[in-house]
Amino acid sequence: MMTERWPIHTDLKDDETLLSFIVRTAILNGSYPHVLFQYWRNLQHSFVSDIDKKVDQNALNRLSSHTGVSVCVLQNSLLDKLIEKLIDQEQYENIRLWRYVMHIGARNHRRSFGYGFCPECMAHDHSRYYRRHWRLLWHVGCSEHKCQLVFDCPHCGNENKPHTLSFQARSINECSHCGHSLSSATKTDVHTDALSVASWLDHYIDTGINTSKWSFTDVQEAALTLRQLMSIVRSALNKPHIRYNMAMLASMNIDAGLPIDRKSITHEQWSVSLREVTLRGAWRLLNVDPESLITLCQSNNISQKFWLYDNKLKTTAIHRIADHLAVDKRTTAKAGISNSLIEPLSRAEAESRWLSISDQLKK
Ligand SMILES: [Zn+2]
Ligand SMILES: [Zn+2]
Repeated sequence: MMTERWPIHTDLKDDETLLSFIVRTAILNGSYPHVLFQYWRNLQHSFVSDIDKKVDQNALNRLSSHTGVSVCVLQNSLLDKLIEKLIDQEQYENIRLWRYVMHIGARNHRRSFGYGFCPECMAHDHSRYYRRHWRLLWHVGCSEHKCQLVFDCPHCGNENKPHTLSFQARSINECSHCGHSLSSATKTDVHTDALSVASWLDHYIDTGINTSKWSFTDVQEAALTLRQLMSIVRSALNKPHIRYNMAMLASMNIDAGLPIDRKSITHEQWSVSLREVTLRGAWRLLNVDPESLITLCQSNNISQKFWLYDNKLKTTAIHRIADHLAVDKRTTAKAGISNSLIEPLSRAEAESRWLSISDQLKK
C-alpha cells in the first residue's frame, strides 16, 4: 500500500525544491498537496517540517516509489548537502537553527515569509517551478530574469503558500488564498551587485574556488563573513548620521537615507529589500582587497567601530582589517564613567564638567 505509485508522473527539475515537486505532482494528479504529503509520510499533520532542508532515507525511498523519481535525484533537490558545508556539526544537528535558509511559515510567531518566486519564471509553463536557490539568504533575485523575488500574492497580499493549494488549482502559478496569478506581480529590477555576490558564493560552494578579493580559510568562513558584512551594512544604515557610517556607505555607493527595518531579528527573517541592500554593500567591500580597505579607513579616520560595531565575535577575515585600525575612543572611555546619579547642574558647573570630560577623552 505504501509503495503504490501515484498515477501521473512528472520530472523533478535539476534546480527544483522538493516542496515545488510535491505540489506540482499533486496538482497533476488532481489531489491536494497536503493529502499526498500525509500519504507519503504516513502522518496525521501536514507539512510539519521544512522538507526542502532534509528528509530521512526511508521517506526518500517511499517517495521514489510513489513518484518514479530516483532516490539520488530526490536527494539532490534537498538543501542539506549544501548547508552542511556552511555550518558546524552542532548547528547541523538542529535543523530549525540552520543558518542561511530563509524561514517559511509562521510558527512561534517568529516573522517569516511566503515561498519566494520570480514572476517572470511563473509566467511560462516550462519555467514554472520553485528554484532551490530561492530559499537561500544570499539570493534575492532571479539570475535569469534579473528581477527581485516576490514572497506575497500580488492581489490579496497573503504570504505565498503553494503547499496549501487546492486540487482544483490549474497550476502552481496561483495564490492558494485568492486564486490570482502570481506571475502578475510587479517586476522589480534586482541590483547586479546582489546577483554577483550570489553567484560568487554559489560558485565557491560548488567548486571551492574563491573569486573575491578577500582570502578565506574555507567556504564556511566566507559565508559567515558575508553574513557579518550584511550586519555591518545594516548597522551603518541604522545610524547613517554617524560620520564613519556615512563615509563607508558612500564608499559602497549606498544611499544613507534608505529606510530600513529596525527590528532585531535573525538574517533568515530579513525582508528581501534589506537583504538586497546589505548584499550589495557586502559585495562592494569584498571587491576591494583588504590592504586598500585598511588604507581607505585610515585616511578617513574610520575606527574599528565600523567593523566591530557590537561585541559578537567576527571572522578572522574581518579582524584582518579591523585590527589595523584605531580603537574607538568612546568604547574605551565607557569603562571610566561612573554609574552614580547625575544631579542637575548650573550652567557654569555643566560647562566645567564638560571641559573636564573632554580633557579626559583627549588623553
Ligand atoms: Zn525568473
Ligand atoms: Zn492572493
